[in-house]
Amino acid sequence: MADALPLASPYPTTGLPPTKVDVTISSQTADPDRTLRVQHAETYPLEVWYFLACLIFLASFINFTGIALGYYRDRRQRRRFRRTSNEGPEPPLRSDSIDWLRLPLAVGDTFRALSFRWTVPVGRSYTINFVEVLLTAVYIAICLAWSLINTTSTKGVKFDPHYYANITGNIASIQFPLIVALGMKNNIISFLTGVSFDKLIYLHGMASRVLVVLVWLHAGGRIQLGLEGKVAITVPVVQAGVLAGVALTLLSIVSIRPIRDKAYEFFLIVHLVLALICIFSAYFHAASFNFGQFVWPAILLWALDRFLRLLRVAVSTITRKKPTSSKAKPNSPVTVTAKPTLELLSAHFIRLTVPAPRFFYWRPGQSVYLTFPGVTFSPFEAHPFTISTINTGSGQSDLRFFIRVHKGATKRLFDSIERERDVKVLLDGPYSSPPLLVGYDTVLLVAGGSGISFTLPLFLDLIQRSKLSGCACRRLTFAWTVRNLGHVSWIQSELFNALQDIPDEALDDDTNSVLDEKAEQEKDARDAMSVTVCGTHALASAVRKAVRYPRMSDILKGGPTVSLHVEAFGSN
Ligand SMILES: Cc1cc2nc3c(=O)[nH]c(=O)nc-3n(C[C@H](O)[C@H](O)[C@H](O)COP(=O)(O)OP(=O)(O)OC[C@H]3O[C@@H](n4cnc5c(N)ncnc54)[C@H](O)[C@@H]3O)c2cc1C
Repeated sequence: MADALPLASPYPTTGLPPTKVDVTISSQTADPDRTLRVQHAETYPLEVWYFLACLIFLASFINFTGIALGYYRDRRQRRRFRRTSNEGPEPPLRSDSIDWLRLPLAVGDTFRALSFRWTVPVGRSYTINFVEVLLTAVYIAICLAWSLINTTSTKGVKFDPHYYANITGNIASIQFPLIVALGMKNNIISFLTGVSFDKLIYLHGMASRVLVVLVWLHAGGRIQLGLEGKVAITVPVVQAGVLAGVALTLLSIVSIRPIRDKAYEFFLIVHLVLALICIFSAYFHAASFNFGQFVWPAILLWALDRFLRLLRVAVSTITRKKPTSSKAKPNSPVTVTAKPTLELLSAHFIRLTVPAPRFFYWRPGQSVYLTFPGVTFSPFEAHPFTISTINTGSGQSDLRFFIRVHKGATKRLFDSIERERDVKVLLDGPYSSPPLLVGYDTVLLVAGGSGISFTLPLFLDLIQRSKLSGCACRRLTFAWTVRNLGHVSWIQSELFNALQDIPDEALDDDTNSVLDEKAEQEKDARDAMSVTVCGTHALASAVRKAVRYPRMSDILKGGPTVSLHVEAFGSN
């Protein structure tokens, strides 16, 4: 409402008649709550994102600094080797006095020991480490804090839904790209932070569950305010929001670990369907409130990942070498006449050999997704397995996999070998971020069962590098816990080829326990020691326990820092 008032001129008259001035006074004063709400709704979601971006930046910085330090240590160690071979033995490892220059190393090592190696059990056979606990707490705290902070209205109403109802919706919508990015195989966060895609799955699941809470806070707030007019439940964009929320909630229920463990393929299909419903309805809903720009990048990322995966399969199929007739190893009970070659190693293990496609390069310890058309239920069913061979660079490499037989696709693969059926294999990869074993003077590789497929390529690569150009590693221990000593023959040819020109006095073949070996190595290590373990949950826990205690004073006196990599094949 506006009133026009005739006013006398306040200025001195100059003999002219007073001017009639029209002044408009608005009696509709702006609602101070509304102004604040609009401001919060625009800025808070972005602030959440800046915070998360800073966390990703910090993790990336630590990752790249670690890699650079590894290469620096490698060069320094090699220079030291050259010097000692000319000038005699190296100085003693540890001294009694404290070297304060080693404080950053000691602090870094203590941080790693406390944060990555102490774990909290979740269920019977799953654990999360302290960093994951901390990240979970921080993520929940920032999402809820930015959603619920400053929600007291100017009239003093605490947790006023006028405030938080929309902000939670906006903060929820801005999480979609992060959640999708964390779940991708072609994973930019994995590339930046060095954390393997299968380990980021924990954060993907955790962030999705926080999203469920945000979505229902948003819905609860809107219901309290009344679903009327433009936001009535009959309006399609509101219905889309409800659909997105319901799909997301169902998704978080079917994603629980017992369901994934029991029926992984069922989980994958339901996950795909519900995730698509959720993300497209969320976009439709958010776009109508001008927040679509926070959701569509998630759709783009998802489509890009799918496209890249299809492209990888297509390229590796087109560039594969022509199949030639080949026979399985003579001691194998089965003869397969066309490549790929499948061998039954025991009642629980299969060895699969596939010629590497041209232009296919991988890092030691990386994995690929394998599809077995005709064996798997659908052409989209793919299972990750680690390439146990290394890239020789000669273009002659084979991809070899040690596959433990479970109850699903691996069992069907086992059956098709028994029936002597030829099996086709499609490759999608390589993926994963195995540890970069550069700059460690002592390396301990521990495997149990199929974990050999992870530690064997790391072992072969270290030996190949030290033969070709030398490397920092002075002592390399390769331990494999097997039920039957005869299983060692499975990797006999790889070991033989790798070790054949190494002098006997440099080799030591013993059956020490893994933990004795670790203690002995730690005593001998000079600079930095790396421990990698891949095997059962119990084996990983035992190794974790052995390296979880802070050793500040030992490191300050010249003892080595210890890095640990636990490969759990998707389960911790
Ligand atoms: C990065 C990575 C590398 C791996 N490397 C190897 C290896 O070198 N050798 C080896 O024997 N195993 C490896 N695995 C584990 C292997 O992928 C599963 O054992 C296999 O997919 C089981 O198939 P299945 O249908 O017979 O299993 P099921 O009997 O259906 O299930 C057995 C277990 O495998 C899990 N699983 C099933 N399908 C998948 C899938 N597509 N992705 C992830 N987990 C799944 C289930 O959750 C369950 O816990 C690796 C896993 C990952 C994540």
